[in-house]
Formats: sequence, C-alpha cells, structure tokens
Amino acid sequence: MEKIIIVGAGLSGATIARMFADGGDTVTVIDKRDTIGGNVYDYVDKNGIRVQVYGPHIFHTDYEDVFEFLSRFTEWNEYEHRVLANVKGTLVPVPFNLKSLFDLYPKDKAERIKERLIAEIGEGNKVSIMQLVQNENKEIREFAQFVYNNIFYLYTKKQWGFSPSQLGKEIMNRVPVYISYEDRYFTDKYQFMPKQGFTEMVSNILRHPRIQLKLGKDAKKIISLYDGKIYLNGKEFEGTLIYTGCVDELFDYKYGVLPYRSLKFKFKTIKKESFQPAAVVNYTTSKKYTRITEFSKFTCEQTDKTDIVKEYSKRFKKGKNIPYYPIPIEKNHIHHKKYADEAKNYSNLYLLGRLAQYKYINMDDAVKNAMDLYRKLKGD
Ligand code: FAD
Ligand code: UDP
Repeated sequence: MEKIIIVGAGLSGATIARMFADGGDTVTVIDKRDTIGGNVYDYVDKNGIRVQVYGPHIFHTDYEDVFEFLSRFTEWNEYEHRVLANVKGTLVPVPFNLKSLFDLYPKDKAERIKERLIAEIGEGNKVSIMQLVQNENKEIREFAQFVYNNIFYLYTKKQWGFSPSQLGKEIMNRVPVYISYEDRYFTDKYQFMPKQGFTEMVSNILRHPRIQLKLGKDAKKIISLYDGKIYLNGKEFEGTLIYTGCVDELFDYKYGVLPYRSLKFKFKTIKKESFQPAAVVNYTTSKKYTRITEFSKFTCEQTDKTDIVKEYSKRFKKGKNIPYYPIPIEKNHIHHKKYADEAKNYSNLYLLGRLAQYKYINMDDAVKNAMDLYRKLKGD
C-alpha cells in the first residue's frame, strides 16, 4: 500500500518528495502532464535554444536554505534580469527608475522631479506606485500618474482583467518605482539560471530510489474524497496525500470554480541573431500581448536564429485552458478559504503550492513552503 502520495511534479511537489525521500520515506509522485517541473518545464529546441514552455522563469531568492537545497541539484549561470518597457515606442527600464524618468521627460523637468523624489522618498529607496499616486506633493502626484498610466495601467488590465486600483497591494507592490538607477528586475541576494535548465534541475530533485514517478496520470481519476476519508482506486487511503493541483477541482467544484488567469503563448523563430535589446520587453501602452521574451538572452547564446514568445493573458475557462495565476483579491481568498476549510476535515490531506494554496508565489516560495510543510509534518 502506498503511504505518501504527492500530486504534482512541479517545484512544490518535487521538493517535498525529495525531503521525504532523503528522510527515509518512500513516496509516489503523480502528474497528469507527461513532463516534470510543472510550469518551470523547459527544453532545448531544434534551434539549440532552451525554451521555457510556460513563460519566462528566472530564479531569485533571499532564502539561504532554498538556495542551498536547489544547489544540490544544479550548477548555476549568473544571470541578473533586466526588463524594458515599451512606452509609446520608447524602451525604458522597468521597474521604473531615474533613467526611465530621464528617458521619458525633458531634461529640465526630469531634474526637478528627480530632486523632489529624492527629497520626499529618499535617494536609493523604492516606493509602490499605489503609494506614490497619493503623495502630498502635486508635482510628484503628476509624475506618479504618468508612471501609473504608462507603465502599470494597461499592462495590469491586460494581465488581470482589473485595473491596478482594483487589485490589492500584493500584486502592485511586486514592481516598485526606484529612486535610484537600479535597473535590475530583482534585488535578491541570489539571482541565477540553472546551467542545464529547470527541467534538468527538477529531474535531479526527483531522481531518488525512494521516489516513484508516475507521469500522464490524472489524480482525480484515482483519488476521491468523501466524508473525511480519502479513497484511492475505491479503497480507503490512510497514508498522507499532498496535493499541489487546483483545490476546487479536488473537491469537484462544490463551492464553485475558483477564478484564475490563463495564458496563451505564441512562439516564433526569427532568422536573426537578436530580436530585442533585453530578454523581456513589456508592452505597457500598446498591443494585446503583455510581453515578449527572447530566450537566448537568458543564456547569452549566439546563434543565427532566435526564439521569441508573445504572451497573452486570458480568462481561465475550466477544461479549456490552463490555470496559471490565482487572482489574489479579497473575495477570491474568501472563496478559496471555503475549500481550505473543507480540506481540514481530512486529517491526512495537505494543500501545497501555487494552485492548491491559491497563492501568487515565486519559485523560491514554492520550495520554501514545501520545506516548511515537510518540517511541520515531521514535528521539527
Ligand atoms: P505548478 O508548477 O503549477 O505544478 C503543479 C503540478 O501539478 C503541474 O505539473 C500539474 O500538471 C500537476 N497537477 C495539477 N492537477 C493535477 C491532477 N489532478 N493530477 C495530477 N497532476 C496534477 N517564479 C519565479 O520565481 N520567477 C519567475 O520568473 C517566474 N515566472 C513565472 C512566469 C509565469 C508565466 C508563471 C505562470 C509563473 C512564474 N513563476 C515565477 C512562478 C512559478 O512558476 C511558481 O511559483 C512555481 O512553478 C509553482 O510550482 P508549483 O509546483 O506550486 O505549481
Ligand atoms: N506590472 C505592470 N507593468 C509592468 C510590470 C508589472 O503593470 O511593466 C504589474 C502587473 O500588474 C503585473 C504585476 O505588476 O502583473 C507583477 O509583475 P511581475 O513581473 O512580478 O509579474 P510576474 O510576471 O512575475 O507574474
């Protein structure tokens, strides 16, 4: 009889599987996809370029233990992510910084705003756009409105179907405004790309004699939950079930379908060495897609061809497309809580990961949460 079942071979599922295996337990990992890694899955295509199938993923963290854990399974390439925004045809750094200011304003005015920002916010600091638009100083408020309109408004509408003011701080605080020339997208201590890609890293995490991997298997076809008991192939399952898929699906949508954002990716090979000056260009004032990613910029490979992907955000439709992003607003958290409370009726069921916990988390938090859950289960 299988004692520990983990649904999902993404970073959350793979991490906790490895923790169990290292600790001496035998686990079974099931994924409905034929691939491992969940949304971090990548592969080298016919052009010799490593392509990320579910959108651009860059590893960054401040957690020592997460970096240490993952470093057991991959070597790293140094990579600091820099993003440009296409503002009415001008490419400027995002997060918006003092260079972006000088790129978009006449020099005299930019100088004045810069001095004001330094006086009000402090040189070297960062500030959320939602705070900046409420600044007491009129000139700063006008500047903030300009940044709101040209960097945040349309991109956010495209990405979430809501305007920034309808979304919580959780989303809008992720990309601040810098009162400095800091032009990196992330400021974490560790910023790297796995040398042989994310799939290889996850494959190494899962490679352990006590981990049994079953791909192309939908857990919903073999697992059912009823009245505080979990059933596996119709028989009561008394082991531990860790679930990293959508929790509404697990409970047959008894409280309704949780809202997610889905994505559509349009990949293209371009017959030239370079397509754009940065790995990612955000389209913040035009276009239906949110951003274009050029994969060779992650690895600094020089080839005569280059692969790009245009990313379109879509409403999630159950059974029709993939749920990528939980939409972290109050009413959805309340909706999700009904499922989380339902899960508490099952003493051997644990929800983990971006989908099951309905949390807008990065890769490092996925790994961190998995490590924390393992420690909790072991009473550490
Ligand atoms: P997932 O990767 O979604 O894995 C869940 C797995 O469960 C999937 O493989 C799925 O097939 C499987 N599953 C679901 N239901 C079932 C079922 N019924 N039966 C069997 N299997 C099932 N993070 C960063 O740190 N940096 C970035 O640059 C970054 N960029 C991102 C870009 C995009 C477009 C997206 C969508 C996310 C990005 N992230 C980024 C976040 C990152 O992808 C997640 O934090 C992380 O991958 C979450 O891992 P997970 O295992 O929780 O979920
Ligand atoms: N955002 C924006 N313009 C940008 C970059 C980000 O409006 O040029 C907003 C948008 O709402 C986005 C959020 O900030 O969804 C978080 O951006 P981040 O890059 O962290 O999102 P990710 O792609 O990692 O999910």
